[in-house]
Amino acid sequence: MELSAEAFEVELPWASGSVHSHEVPEHPCPACDTLLSHATAGEQRPEPGDFTICFTCAAPLKFTEDLQVVVLAGEDFAALPPGVQDDLNHVRSSILRFQARREDGRAAP
Ligand SMILES: [Zn+2]
Repeated sequence: MELSAEAFEVELPWASGSVHSHEVPEHPCPACDTLLSHATAGEQRPEPGDFTICFTCAAPLKFTEDLQVVVLAGEDFAALPPGVQDDLNHVRSSILRFQARREDGRAAP
């Protein structure tokens, strides 16, 4: 499934340009057990230490050395620049709104 920042109705300067779905080692989300196999990013593949957000439960996550994910620790989040924290929170709330509309049957599956 191809996703884009537009799908979340957000504008993110770092997500402008082409958005790609990158294959990552298949593993469950540590927060909701959804099987994760792809990460949406720019041209660059995700690298260990990068953060991401689960599209199912909106949990903030961080890539490990083997490109699996762990829940982003509070201190890791606090260490991010405030603008990045705002972007993460903005995307998380957009995902939650998208999923709520989807559950209401008002968005395409
Ligand atoms: Zn999840």
